[in-house]
Amino acid sequence: MLDEADDIHPLFQGAPSTTEFRKLRKRIIRNVRMAIEEYGMVERDTRWLICLSGGKDSYTLLAALHELKWRGHLPVDMLACNLDQGQPGFPSTVLPDFLDRMQIPHRIEFQDTYSIVTDKVPANRTYCALCSRLRRGHLYRIAREEGCSAIVLGHHRDDILETFFMNLFHGGRLATMPPKLLNEEGDLLVCRPLAHVAEADCARFAAAMNYPIIPCDLCGSQDGLQRQQVKAILDEWERNAPGRRRVMFRALTNARPSHLLDPRLFDFAGLASKPKDTNDVDCREFSALPSSWSDPSEPAVPGPASPAGDPAAARAIRGARHTT
Ligand code: SF4
Repeated sequence: MLDEADDIHPLFQGAPSTTEFRKLRKRIIRNVRMAIEEYGMVERDTRWLICLSGGKDSYTLLAALHELKWRGHLPVDMLACNLDQGQPGFPSTVLPDFLDRMQIPHRIEFQDTYSIVTDKVPANRTYCALCSRLRRGHLYRIAREEGCSAIVLGHHRDDILETFFMNLFHGGRLATMPPKLLNEEGDLLVCRPLAHVAEADCARFAAAMNYPIIPCDLCGSQDGLQRQQVKAILDEWERNAPGRRRVMFRALTNARPSHLLDPRLFDFAGLASKPKDTNDVDCREFSALPSSWSDPSEPAVPGPASPAGDPAAARAIRGARHTT
């Protein structure tokens, strides 16, 4: 068992020996393993292309996957890959040096998508949409050339939540980045094993490990105001109600098509009532219901204080019962 093992993958050598860091590492590994199993990401004896940007999330992804493989929980071959997109000032030796030092098989590819993006996108617009499309195309090509069946990305729980709200607020749809996706051509999977990992955990982990982080703003563009606004809203909700992000993420894993409004997901037209056979009704079953019973399909509505603690409410309820 991972939690009982004292030894760790060489990638973690030099890691802090504090209890806090051990807990953090174990939590990340446990969450990654859970996502891999829950969403059936592994096809035995295949090859994964682990995509690294050099940011905190991609280092966390790399470390977690290598530790799981090292412990025998991940029966896939892995190739780390970085696409140098030609952004000005990109430190092109940082990742290859790190990967060489850690003896991690890798491929570094240079493709100047930065020039294409700056040429095509008007000055007042962000580059991200075109930049990501070009990057994804190259990653698919590299995966095919390397005999990989999946590209593996470092998007975490908060990326997934933010994308959900961006789609909700600006796109008019309930959708986000799924943990596992098949590309349009049907020959490659896109997997996100950090789906259950909080961004704050990635940040703490990468900082504690002292990984050589490559800044994410070298392109001079960002994902636009929309993502920043959504981030600020979620941060404020989390400040006012700690744990809110976790609860909202859990809701994404617990959708009820029959309680939404999309007729493509649920056959509302096919719903029809049937006359109830009154001979089957046993009125005694209603008298056995507790007085606090409510229809579980309806959302909870805040009610008055408990009658036990509020004599006026108790009198009102007794009166109401007498009239029915
Ligand atoms: S932030 Fe820069 S590198 Fe990242 S997707 Fe946007 S344009 Fe591309």
